[in-house]
Amino acid sequence: MSEGKKHLYLTRHKGQFFKPCPGTREYRCCDYHVLNTGMNCPIDCVYCILQAYLNNPWLSFYLNVDDLLAEIDTVLQDNPEKVYRIGTGEFTDSLAIDRLTALSRRLVTHIAKYENAMLELKTKSAVIENLKDLDYQGRTVIAWSLNSRPVLQKEEIRSATLEERLEAARQCAEWGYKLAFHFDPIIEHEGWEDGYEETIRKLYDSVPADKIVWISMGALRYLPKLKEIGIGRFPGSRMYFQEFVEGLDGKARYFRDNRVRLYKSIYGMLKKRAAERTCIYFCMESDEIWREVMGFAPEEQGGVPAMLDRAFFDSPR
Ligand code: SF4
Repeated sequence: MSEGKKHLYLTRHKGQFFKPCPGTREYRCCDYHVLNTGMNCPIDCVYCILQAYLNNPWLSFYLNVDDLLAEIDTVLQDNPEKVYRIGTGEFTDSLAIDRLTALSRRLVTHIAKYENAMLELKTKSAVIENLKDLDYQGRTVIAWSLNSRPVLQKEEIRSATLEERLEAARQCAEWGYKLAFHFDPIIEHEGWEDGYEETIRKLYDSVPADKIVWISMGALRYLPKLKEIGIGRFPGSRMYFQEFVEGLDGKARYFRDNRVRLYKSIYGMLKKRAAERTCIYFCMESDEIWREVMGFAPEEQGGVPAMLDRAFFDSPR
């Protein structure tokens, strides 16, 4: 896995590029579509789920981009009444190797042609050069995963610093892009409240609140077999040495009371500075948690997908 971070394998993808995000039946999910552009990334996160799946000593990028675009065309043209939220960050980081591939330029300008699609490029890097001067037609959201500084430094190796991510976000906002942020995974650690408070304060000091279309929150969850791999590869990390309970999806999670405590605090900090139309939502939580933390269940506002679509379409281009 560590060796694999240093080798780039250029290949053709023979399978399907474009699929609904698997989500789970047990928790509220957001009806996302995943574009499979490659596998693995040069950043090394202690909690990365790919460690439990991948056994190739390389990271792959798929060169047959024309096939990928043709597949998107077929789906979007065959279903003009359906709105597609599309992301490339499921099996890789959307922008970390964009200086080598320039894939972002092709995706952003391609999605710009469609009224029924929006593209989210999700990253922990600050690689944004290729996004400059693109005709994106307001259809692309540039998103960063954020965390408290100690988590960023200790658990996300070779990622951009907090300042680099926020400067990149500021620049993208200046170029006109819509922004999104993901507090995922939220990790309980010593001083977590101060850590998340600092990140949220710096976030809103760096970018205009009304440019942010959505912010997600998700507490740490992992497949049980990831624990052994994570401890083996990162013996200094304390992340897995906490109390967890098995969730309905078979993943380990913090106990419900702990999750609610983390969420209430971080949600309160976000709400103080968030614009009215920014959609703050949970990734993979139950209605009970939504009610306890936010005071409503997503269905009362049309469901998570509708809430996200509204936040996107109501924001100015
Ligand atoms: S940036 Fe994403 S894909 Fe890359 S190591 Fe971290 S979690 Fe995994």
